[in-house]
Amino acid sequence: MKNYNVGIIGATGMVGQRFALLLADHPNFTVTALAASSRSAGKTYEEALSGRWAMTVPCPQNLKSMTVYDATNDIDTIVSKVDFVFCAVDMKKDEILALEEMYAKKECPVVSNNSANRKTPDVPMVIPELNSDHIKIIDSQRKRLGTKKGFIAVKSNCSLQSYVPALYPLDEKYGVEKVLVCTYQAISGAGKTFERWPEMIDNVIPYIGGEEEKSEVEPLKIWGKIRCGKIVPAKKPEFTAQCLRVPVSDGHMAAVFVTFKNKPTKEEILKVWKDFSGEPQALSLPHAPKQFLNYFEEDNMPQTKLNRDLEGGMAISVGRLREDSQYDYKFVCLSHNTLRGAAGGGVLLAELLCAKGYMD
Ligand code: NAP
Repeated sequence: MKNYNVGIIGATGMVGQRFALLLADHPNFTVTALAASSRSAGKTYEEALSGRWAMTVPCPQNLKSMTVYDATNDIDTIVSKVDFVFCAVDMKKDEILALEEMYAKKECPVVSNNSANRKTPDVPMVIPELNSDHIKIIDSQRKRLGTKKGFIAVKSNCSLQSYVPALYPLDEKYGVEKVLVCTYQAISGAGKTFERWPEMIDNVIPYIGGEEEKSEVEPLKIWGKIRCGKIVPAKKPEFTAQCLRVPVSDGHMAAVFVTFKNKPTKEEILKVWKDFSGEPQALSLPHAPKQFLNYFEEDNMPQTKLNRDLEGGMAISVGRLREDSQYDYKFVCLSHNTLRGAAGGGVLLAELLCAKGYMD
C-alpha cells in the first residue's frame, strides 16, 4: 500500500480520539489535518481536548500541538493537506449530508462514521469482510457528484457490528430467515464516559434513540445487491431488535436468536465461523484481524471486559451457541463499539479503498 495524508473531521469527539490513536502509528496513513467545530477551531489539539480526553492511553504526542481547523470554514486548507478524510461529527443530519458532500465535491474522499449517508443508495455501507464488493458503486456516485476522485463511503452502525458478521456467512450456506436480537450497548457509543454520564452507574436505560430501526434496517443494505447504479437492500433476513444502554464503558454485546431455511448442525455453524475470512484478510490489510470470528466454548464467555480488545478490538467474539425452543439457535456476540464499530472499522474500510485504488 502507498502512503497517504489523512484528516480527522470531528477529531475532538469520542470516535475522533479513537481515530487519533489508531492513526498515530499507522504504517501508511499520516494525520496532517485535524478539524472540529468552531468551538475548537484555532486551538491546539491539546487545548481543544482540555478535560475531554476519554481514552485510557495518552493523546499521541505528535498531534498535541497541531492546530484544529473549523471543518466547514477551513475546508480548502484541509483538503489541500490531505488525500482523504475520516468523518465522525455530532451534527444535524442535513448538516452532515451537506458537509460530507462538500468534501467529496472538492475531490476529497470521505470515510464516514456518521449515519446521515447510510441510506443514500449510491453510498456504499461496508463491513470490509462481508460486502467489500459494494465499493464498486463509487463509480456511479462519482458520476452523480460530478467528481473524478471525491466520494463518500460509510461504515454501518456500531450495534450490528457484532451480530451481522456472525450471521452473514451462515446465510450464504444455510439461508438465514428470521433474527431476533437484543443489544447491550456501552456508554462510549453515546460519546460518553462515566464521569460525564454518572446517571449510567448502576443503571440500564431501555432506549437508545433511533438504534432499533438502524439495527433492523441497516443489515439489509449490507446484504443488498448493486443494480442499475444503486445498492438495492435485500428483503431477507427479517430482523427485530431491542437495544439497551448498559453500564459498560466500551463494547457492545448482542443476544441473537436465529431461524434458518436449512437448519445446520451446531458443528456446521462452528466450522463456518472458524473458516470465514474476507478480503481484508486476503489483502493482509494493516487493521484486519487474523481471525475475524472467534468462538469461545466456555459457558461464561465472551465477556465485555475480557474480550472487547481481541485483536486490537477488530475481531468479533461469539459464544453460547445452543438450540432454542422457538428459533433454531441462540448465541451471543461481542464487538468493540469504538474500534471495530467505529474508528477501527473506518480505518479498515479506508485501507480497503486504498488497496483497491479508490484513494488515488
Ligand atoms: P462526540 O464525542 O459527541 O463528538 C462529536 C464531534 O463532532 C466533536 O469533535 C465535535 O467538535 C464535532 N462537531 C460538533 N459540531 C460540529 C460542527 N458544527 N462542525 C464540525 N464538527 C462538529 O460524538 P462521537 O461519539 O464521537 O460520534 C461522532 C459520530 O460518530 C456520530 O455521528 C455518531 O453517531 C457516530 N458513531 C459513534 C460511535 C460511538 O461508538 N461513539 C459509533 C459509531 C458511529 P467540538 O469538540 O468542537 O464540539
